[in-house]
Amino acid sequence: MSSAFRGLPLRPPLLEALEHVGYGEMTPIQAQALPLLLAGKDVTGQAKTGSGKTAAFGLALLNAVDLAVPTPQALVLCPTRELAEQVAGEVRRLAARMPNACVLTVCGGHSLRDQTRTLAHGAQVVVGTPGRLGQHLREGTLDLSGVGVLVLDEADRMLDMGFIEEVAAIVDRCPGDRQTLLFSATFPDPILALSRRVQREPQHVAVESRVEPEKLRQLVFECAPQERPWLVADLLAEYRPETSLLFCETRNDCEAFADLLTGEGARALVLHGQMDQRDRDDVLIQFANGSVSVLVATNLAARGLDIPSLPMVIITELSPDPETYLHRIGRTGRAGEVGLALTLVVPGERWRLERTERFMGAPLERGAMPPRSDGLAFLTPPNRTLLIHAGRKDKLRKGDVLGALVKEGGLPPEAVGRIDLMPRACAVAVDRKYAGQALHHLRSGSVKKKHLRARLLD
Ligand code: ADP
Ligand code: MG
Repeated sequence: MSSAFRGLPLRPPLLEALEHVGYGEMTPIQAQALPLLLAGKDVTGQAKTGSGKTAAFGLALLNAVDLAVPTPQALVLCPTRELAEQVAGEVRRLAARMPNACVLTVCGGHSLRDQTRTLAHGAQVVVGTPGRLGQHLREGTLDLSGVGVLVLDEADRMLDMGFIEEVAAIVDRCPGDRQTLLFSATFPDPILALSRRVQREPQHVAVESRVEPEKLRQLVFECAPQERPWLVADLLAEYRPETSLLFCETRNDCEAFADLLTGEGARALVLHGQMDQRDRDDVLIQFANGSVSVLVATNLAARGLDIPSLPMVIITELSPDPETYLHRIGRTGRAGEVGLALTLVVPGERWRLERTERFMGAPLERGAMPPRSDGLAFLTPPNRTLLIHAGRKDKLRKGDVLGALVKEGGLPPEAVGRIDLMPRACAVAVDRKYAGQALHHLRSGSVKKKHLRARLLD
């Protein structure tokens, strides 16, 4: 069976965009869900992170909107601002060949007035968090009466975060004859209740998240509690992953591990729920563009994020909930690469290991203790991140930045990595060796006759 997108009743600009972004084949969840989504059915979808759910519902909603009508016709609810930005980014990429399509993110951290203005100019697709969307509804600056497609993304997490009331209030403001899609990693009773409340005869689409042992090596290391931080350092030194994600249960643990690893010479940053949004964005950008080697994160902060497939994850402490293990190891070994998932277990947590093994259906392999490391200086990432204090809203384009650094600044083209263009800022990954030169050039030169303010993010 061919699973090419061409067999679907998609608008030509969407097919062109798919070609442009290089999605040749559908992922399994897309192949299952898209025919139903495009037929207008309500769907509940269950698949692990990274399986392509965003493009599935993104294509469906872009296929349904009427570009001549300048009011919101598709609404996507996400638990956090990062996820909303990611979803909006993916939907914008898919809408690239639909020049009149406007995709607006409505989250905290941006000005209410800017959002209201864009809403007034006619955004057909709105992606946001329940908190900020609720605020717009109360202020009367968001009209949902034209919404034909409503998506609840990562619904389990929205409920975990206590958003049920806000979600219900938003759903109530959408027309009754809409299409409602609900995605969730798990389907416990509260999610089923939500689905019953907001959906009509939903079709359930699920892709098994079985781990393929030949793609993912899972090892367990038993140690005493006080040995935990050093064992992590030793494991990093032994396996030498270019990048890795370290999971902790608490914010304090995150900070303690990051401090230790930094002290050993690695470039490690933390990501947890108590950080403010801008700091979280900066961390994620640096991690994705090769400016950070180790990301130390709590579970909640890391769940669902589309960070590129990682060579290694380290679970510093098993969660009592065995399913968490499956989500965490799912961050590695994605897209056909071999991954490594290392788990530390102290004697008092052995019951968590037993529970996890029962959940996984097999005992986990015990790893051999690594020798003591002598520092982690080799964990210096290839890039540094240059943050320019101007963005899309200032009419800055990626090409301008590239031109300024390469053509005028004299950097070799390969020294400039990923460029993240945001509304009011632009993050540029630059080869560590050239970071100083790049900064100096941006500060002293000009882009489109304007001086730019810039700084290095670390
Ligand atoms: P999920 O929401 O299921 O966790 P995402 O929608 O964030 O996953 O997708 C994960 C990654 O897969 C994204 O980087 C996306 O660009 C990519 N992707 C999605 N669909 C396809 C496809 N058909 N072919 C190749 N890559 C895809
Ligand atoms: Mg997703």
